[in-house]
Amino acid sequence: MKAMGPVSADFLRGGGDLSFGGKSAEELIAAHGAPLFVYNHAIIDRQAKRYRAAFAGVGLHYAVKANPFAPLMQHMAGLVDGLDLASSGELVRVEAAGLLRPDLPLSFAGPGKTSSDLAEAVQAGVCVHVESENELERLLAIAKLTKQQASIGVRVNPPFGLKGSGMKMGGLASQFGVDHEAVPGLVRRIVEAGAEWRGLHVYAGSQSLSAEAVIDMQRATVALAGEIATEVGLTPPEVNLGGGFGIPYFAGDKPLDIEAVGAALEDTLANRPLILAGTNFVIELGRWLVGECGVYLTRVVDRKVSRGKTFLVVDGGLHHMLAASGNFGQLLRRNYPVAVANRFGDEPEEEVTVVGCLCTPLDLLADEVALPRAEVGDVIAIFCAGAYGLTASPQAFLSQGAAREVLV
Ligand SMILES: *Cc1c(COP(=O)(O)O)cnc(C)c1O
Repeated sequence: MKAMGPVSADFLRGGGDLSFGGKSAEELIAAHGAPLFVYNHAIIDRQAKRYRAAFAGVGLHYAVKANPFAPLMQHMAGLVDGLDLASSGELVRVEAAGLLRPDLPLSFAGPGKTSSDLAEAVQAGVCVHVESENELERLLAIAKLTKQQASIGVRVNPPFGLKGSGMKMGGLASQFGVDHEAVPGLVRRIVEAGAEWRGLHVYAGSQSLSAEAVIDMQRATVALAGEIATEVGLTPPEVNLGGGFGIPYFAGDKPLDIEAVGAALEDTLANRPLILAGTNFVIELGRWLVGECGVYLTRVVDRKVSRGKTFLVVDGGLHHMLAASGNFGQLLRRNYPVAVANRFGDEPEEEVTVVGCLCTPLDLLADEVALPRAEVGDVIAIFCAGAYGLTASPQAFLSQGAAREVLV
């Protein structure tokens, strides 16, 4: 038997059938098909509310790459102060969702922006966070050529990282951002060129469950922004403190204490360098806002025993939910939380291994977990599927069917 991650308390009420806003998994599949990603807006609302209570006065941006499903972004737009993009394809999706609005600021960070990416961003009024001197020069040239005012932030490669985070993205040589010591030079260049300098963006890592690590990172980020501002002699209008807030995926994971992080940030900001007195601070979050709202539902197609081991073979797989298979950057494969949707809350009766329908041994969704007995036709639910689920999966691999998505 192997452990699995914790099922969020949001789903544990009731028992019997797993349900979302009064609709059972089976009803949702009947209406929308399977395999199906269900995103529950009430959980997103709750997370946003918790953020607002903990971080009064600090703006909230949504990192679209976590989940760009149009109805989810449309819902999110009513809860946050801006959207952060990581590609011009995301800009297209945001525009298609009707979210190019003057009251919803967009910013764009990410390496490898092509000149057409930059031109589209300037055209749409998106603030571009430049990642290199070369990128800045191309952006300034485009703005000059098209006679448009570019809004530019500088993404900083800080001399520190987010300790113990899933993906460390600071303190090292990096394709992300401009090494911090070179940032003042770029800021001067932006100002001299007559472009709008929006400020600084520092992203030092993600998926941290340690309040202490996030607090230290935010403190170091505010101090670094103060040093850069002092060197150029200008107040940055905005400092994006990054994010990095994690959610529990695996056995033993404890939720991040965001109330402690918020209290410490309030203290950090109360004591910030004077040159940042007029600066607006924001935090950008992806998985913390949407990760727990999503459940991937997939139907059991076959049940078989091989050399004493019971397998449930489902109609979905890693082509929709790569992260649950352990192949999305994890060092060790561990089980996501899973359940039998139509026997939710029942006592475990057997040890099973849940595999997807792809013809590869990598397609392992839950390894040797304890579940109530499931038969062909029953529905398996995989939790923590709201962020980096479908959008982070190789849906074309093996030409199986597409997944459906619904926001309830
Ligand atoms: C991926 C990313 C995020 C979102 O990370 P989460 O772990 O989903 O919160 C935010 N900002 C930047 C720059 C990113 O690359």
